[in-house]
Amino acid sequence: MQINLYNSLSRKIEPFTPLIDNEVRMYSCGPTVYNFAHIGNMRAFLFADLLQRVLKVVGQHKVRWVMNITNIDDKTIRDSAVGSSAWISDMGEQTDDLLNNLLKLTEYYEKSFLEDISRLGIKKEDFFAMPKATEYIEQMQNLIRLILEKGFAYISEGSIYFNVSEWRKHQTYGRLFYIDFDNFRAGERIDSDQYEREDASDFVLWKARKPNEPYWNFHIDNFNFPGRPGWHIECSCMEKELLGLPFDIHTGGIDLKFPHHEDEIAQSHAGYGIDPTVMWCHNEFLEVEGQKMSKSLGNFFTLRDLLEKGIDPLDIRFSMFASHYGSVYNFTFDGIKSSHKARFRIQEYIYKLFEKSESEITIDIDKLRNSVFSELANDLHTPKALAHLFTFINDNPTDKLSEASKNGLIAFFTELNNIFDVWTINPRQETELSIPDEIKEKAEMRLEAKKNKNWDLSDSLRKEIIDAGYILKDTKDGYTIEKG
Ligand code: AMP
Ligand code: ZN
Repeated sequence: MQINLYNSLSRKIEPFTPLIDNEVRMYSCGPTVYNFAHIGNMRAFLFADLLQRVLKVVGQHKVRWVMNITNIDDKTIRDSAVGSSAWISDMGEQTDDLLNNLLKLTEYYEKSFLEDISRLGIKKEDFFAMPKATEYIEQMQNLIRLILEKGFAYISEGSIYFNVSEWRKHQTYGRLFYIDFDNFRAGERIDSDQYEREDASDFVLWKARKPNEPYWNFHIDNFNFPGRPGWHIECSCMEKELLGLPFDIHTGGIDLKFPHHEDEIAQSHAGYGIDPTVMWCHNEFLEVEGQKMSKSLGNFFTLRDLLEKGIDPLDIRFSMFASHYGSVYNFTFDGIKSSHKARFRIQEYIYKLFEKSESEITIDIDKLRNSVFSELANDLHTPKALAHLFTFINDNPTDKLSEASKNGLIAFFTELNNIFDVWTINPRQETELSIPDEIKEKAEMRLEAKKNKNWDLSDSLRKEIIDAGYILKDTKDGYTIEKG
């Protein structure tokens, strides 16, 4: 089916076709790994996951999906600095090797990020690559050299800046966001990674070495400029290396439009002579009581906070589909409860499809499939797709369906679950009575490990239970186990 997507560049919904053959090359700005990601961040990753799944299942495309891991920026440096209060013993000992400290801190949070996304149903095998910024320093330096050679950057006090005024003589700066150039402070420079539109000025590509910060040598024309990359340059560089330019789709949260993505377009085009991508897709914020969930506002929950409250991660995954990605999602605990109920209404229906019935009534499954898939193809309209599904299950109780129709529906739900991935497509399982004591003990040990926040142990016990052929689900009061 033809997929249509809202493109933040054209501000329109556009028909999407991959540039080369049938393979979609897609890049998502990934996490900055200096802390546990909050569920606002998770909205961005669940949106990208939804998009790549819809492209595969509904669009029948192959997808090459790259998501970067930002392991060097102002915050990772701040928190890995010797004596930082953010350092915890699980990261090992801090040493005099500042780069080693940075890598230890960020590896710790990268691992937790991978565990979190996996709990939310994002599969590691769906990524083509998850490159880390520190692995691409040389390529970033090459890109900065190109930008310098073409006259769109300059060196000042050991740092290298992108010259916005010079660039504007060739191309628009402010393609994703309107920038008021009447108040533009030409020639002024900004060193921080994140800044507001009002502070638009020459942004930093390479930051001169500061005491107590890790650094890399950077040789330009027989001079050395020791320092480290600014935040924006990593994406320009990694997407070119791993996807080629221009690629098809770039995703990220709406806050990244400026400055991160605007600067990315400018750098890539100035250096490589071409726009990085054709389509920019941005998810709206997840909010709590009308405010963006963010670490700086202190109103955030990590996935771990919610798991401790007994919330099933699949209810969080499903709750994100109740709103369109382009609308603000208001996070509430009641919302998560409703999401659980709604998910299980469909789950119960699926269980019943496996029960015998005497009915001869057949239904038009293609019509259902078409209505649900058309909504997903229409800019990933999950709420409308789910509305069709709920209307259908209300109007068609399973005991009124023929065996053939039920089998057709099982096939349809299996296909749909390749996108939503929140249901079990199986007959209802026998209860815990048939679960061996050994498995029950492991489940109890895991509950204890979870209470003690021993995530490694709890994950390895969970894996043992699953490998032994059982399905373990977290619930509000603890867990349930079923035979797989
Ligand atoms: P960061 O780790 O801060 O670089 O952010 C990772 C991703 O999360 C980016 O795509 C952000 O745009 C996105 N993001 C951050 N806060 C929120 C929020 N409250 N709602 C939705 N997306 C967010
Ligand atoms: Zn990025």
